[in-house]
Amino acid sequence: MTRREADDLSFIRAEIRTMSGYTPGEQPRGGRVIKLNTNENPYPPSPRVLEAIAEAASEDVRLYPNPMAEALCESAAAVYGLDSAQVLAGNGSDELLMMIIRACVGHGDRVVYPVPTYSLYETLVQIGGGAVATVPFPDDFGLPVDELLELRGKVNLICNPNAPSGTVTPLSVLDEMAPRAEGLLVVDEAYADFGSVTAIELIERHSNVVVVRTFSKSFSLAGLRVGLLFGQPRVIAELAKVKDSYNLSRLSIAGATAALSDLEWMRRNVAKVRATRGRLNRGLLALGYQVLPSDTNFVLARRPGENQHATFDSLRGRGILVRYFDIPGLRDALRITVGTDEEIDALLAALTELVNR
Ligand code: PMP
Repeated sequence: MTRREADDLSFIRAEIRTMSGYTPGEQPRGGRVIKLNTNENPYPPSPRVLEAIAEAASEDVRLYPNPMAEALCESAAAVYGLDSAQVLAGNGSDELLMMIIRACVGHGDRVVYPVPTYSLYETLVQIGGGAVATVPFPDDFGLPVDELLELRGKVNLICNPNAPSGTVTPLSVLDEMAPRAEGLLVVDEAYADFGSVTAIELIERHSNVVVVRTFSKSFSLAGLRVGLLFGQPRVIAELAKVKDSYNLSRLSIAGATAALSDLEWMRRNVAKVRATRGRLNRGLLALGYQVLPSDTNFVLARRPGENQHATFDSLRGRGILVRYFDIPGLRDALRITVGTDEEIDALLAALTELVNR
């Protein structure tokens, strides 16, 4: 390779050079901010998790972890009523989504999903060299099943409940969709613990369904990076071929396994978040925002036709971070993570000033 070719980055695949990459929500490095921008849990994880991590932080870290995170998969199987061969652990659910794309999507293969949704999907398909095919959600965010199926995706991605709308598709709709789908049906349940719908039972009935879960939201472990995927053993075995060899650290395996031993703790936090979600909804409605019903730990607040960028900036100036999406259809909206009651009261007080200005 000549020097010039190296300078023009031709050694990087064209798909990568032309994509912009995923933009994560802002993660401030310090200072006092009210952080309502990336759907973390405002409450700490179970003390059992911290004890387990401290115990795992021993000189045993010189040894590789269990490559399949077997202890975690066995605990998860017991909790969710599955066999451990139906469970795959990932370094966050993001890694599991990446594994799905790696295993299923080759050059030009179509990946179908409704929009707006989790923006990482597009990035992953671009990395895989696949073709994104999207269908807009209607205003009520009902799943446009027929339109999605017409696109005949090799992979169909359904975020349920959906982000950033917070809305949920009933299980019966997914149950009927699965046998009609030609390709894989991925149900991303990152926020399912905050609602009441899960598609886990579908993996027994449909060999083309996988369900993806995360410890980042309901279990308060975004910093640990652990997710789970449920599917039929044959599918799990294929997906496992494309994972990093030791994708979860010893600390992650220990911490997530301990989290599953204290579901009560998680459920108490979820109940608090849901109560505060009601408080946030009521406050936003009183301020004239339109709010979609949310089954998640965030709320999409809209002022139709009014760009919310200035409000986002003003909140940021006051040390309150929320999420603004600079994309068509979402510029009149703010996505607000449900924090503690105190955080939400501070947000509502700031919004009250801004709206009445
Ligand atoms: N799916 C959805 C819909 C999400 O919002 C997120 C969090 N950004 C993830 C998956 C990824 O979660 P994690 O990698 O932290 O498990």
